[in-house]
Amino acid sequence: MSLLATIKRKIHNATHPKLGVVLMLHRVVEKRSEEPEKRELEITTEFLVETIVRYREQGYRFVSIDQVCNILNGKEKGKPFVCLTFDDGYQDNYTVALPLLKRLEVPFAIYVTTGFIDNRLPMWWYPDEQLGLSREELVALSKEPLCTIGAHTISHRRLDELTGEEQLKEIVESKRGLEEIIACPVNHFSYPHGAYNDATVNIVKENGFSSALMAWGGVVRKGDERFQLHRIILKQNQ
Ligand SMILES: [Zn+2]
Repeated sequence: MSLLATIKRKIHNATHPKLGVVLMLHRVVEKRSEEPEKRELEITTEFLVETIVRYREQGYRFVSIDQVCNILNGKEKGKPFVCLTFDDGYQDNYTVALPLLKRLEVPFAIYVTTGFIDNRLPMWWYPDEQLGLSREELVALSKEPLCTIGAHTISHRRLDELTGEEQLKEIVESKRGLEEIIACPVNHFSYPHGAYNDATVNIVKENGFSSALMAWGGVVRKGDERFQLHRIILKQNQ
């Protein structure tokens, strides 16, 4: 980074205090796979508990994605926040993560790709396994007060490579499809692969969402844009 860019960033950061972090997760498992490309998307239950305990010890509080929006709008104040978000809609979010997060009273959001429900579309990065949530599991999750269901398109393609019309379909129909299944509004979105362009952001803004998550960007600061919300990937080394 150039000196000028570094100075600009420092000034921005000094005038836009850190509010908290949105963590990006995928799978939670008892034991991780041997294959490196699968391990990449997995964290263990032990690691998740340690992460929650460590943040709480450091004075953070865990909040829902609705609360993140309220904090950004200045409607809610308090200690620095952590918001847990899971992408894609893996079955282990229901079978493994949910009991643990209930026990620790941690709110969380799951961004579900509708094609992966009941494994109608394959998760091509898991060619031999069926890891998607079932419709019944999704309904059960939506009834959990700690859980927010968000949209993550129909087919999990990169939105920045689609036409405006195709993007609109992916975004709006995934929202409608989820709302039909869970019978309550779906207000939050996450960009598959963290990929989007100006058209994507406009479509999300104009179609009844309150926020949309990126896949990088670091901490959330005062004044940040709700439709390009930064995240930090929660990674377990080794
Ligand atoms: Zn995804």
